[in-house]
Order: sequence, then structure tokens, then C-alpha cells
Amino acid sequence: MAATDLPTPTVGPVSRLAPKPMRFVLNWGRRYSLWVFNFGLACCAIEFIAASASRHDFIRFGVIPFANGPRQADLMIVSGTVTDKMAPAVKRLYEQMPDPKYVISFGACSNSGGPYWDSYCVTNGVDQIIPVDVYVPGCPPRPEALLYGITKLQEKIAAEHLGDRYRSEQA
Ligand code: SF4
Repeated sequence: MAATDLPTPTVGPVSRLAPKPMRFVLNWGRRYSLWVFNFGLACCAIEFIAASASRHDFIRFGVIPFANGPRQADLMIVSGTVTDKMAPAVKRLYEQMPDPKYVISFGACSNSGGPYWDSYCVTNGVDQIIPVDVYVPGCPPRPEALLYGITKLQEKIAAEHLGDRYRSEQA
């Protein structure tokens, strides 16, 4: 049997029966240990770097920047202009991230194509190729906007059933 024939691991429907305190502890751990795969594609990536540096310091929220690669990451932050040529690479690296995984779209270009929305080569939003959990508006957004987006994502993680997350990824 080839490695690609192995069944996809799932958490399963039993996870819905997990007691609320157990779910709280599990989600508390997940929301404060997000390792970020930064997909920096244009000017917004500079603001992402500013948000991770000492002045804004998003590590204090339990968010660790610059994962070694997608296979170690929980969160992809797409910052900058997604082109049609780059889109397959974004999708491929997203698929290499382990479940459960999250995406923040950071900036107007990543949200909708931004100032280049009518260009022949620009993808009008990264959500056309991968699911997005949180959109951060702006051109570019300030680092504080990313911090706010991260807290919104953490609230979302705190409220979710892990099993639901796996099933939605497989749908
Ligand atoms: S949204 Fe604005 S600042 Fe961000 S990558 Fe696009 S053009 Fe640059």
C-alpha cells in the first residue's frame, strides 16, 4: 500500500461528546500556541514583520512567527498580492499544513485583489483558493489590526468543537 493510500486521520464524531471542561482546556492550549507560516507576497508582509517585532510583539498572545515550514504550522497569514501564477503554490503549501489549520488574510490585496483587482494576473482574494477564517482590511493594515485579527481568531478557536473543524476541512 502506497503512503498516499492511507486513510485520512480524523478526530471523529465522538469528539462532540467531550465534556465542556475538557474542550475548554484543549481549545485554550490551541488558541495560545499558534505557530505561523507567513506567506508574505508584497508590501503588507512588512507590516506582518513589524507586528512580530518587539514594539507590537504578538508572541505575547501565544503566536509564534516564522514556522520552519507548512508542516509545522497551525496558522497561515497571507499578506500581499496573490497572483494567478502564485496561487497554486499557496494552495499546495496550505494543503501541507496539518489539521486543524487556520488562515488570516491580511490586507486588501489578499482579501480581494486590492488596488490591482482588475489586473490580468491578480487573484481577486486568496479565499478563491483556500478557506479564510479572518480578514484584516487595510492597504496596508497597521500591525494593531493584525493583533486584533489574531484575537478574533483566538475567540473563534475557543468556541469550536475540534471534530467539527476536521469535518469542515474534509467537506
Ligand atoms: S494591500 Fe496595499 S500595502 Fe498590502 S500588499 Fe496590497 S498594495 Fe501593498
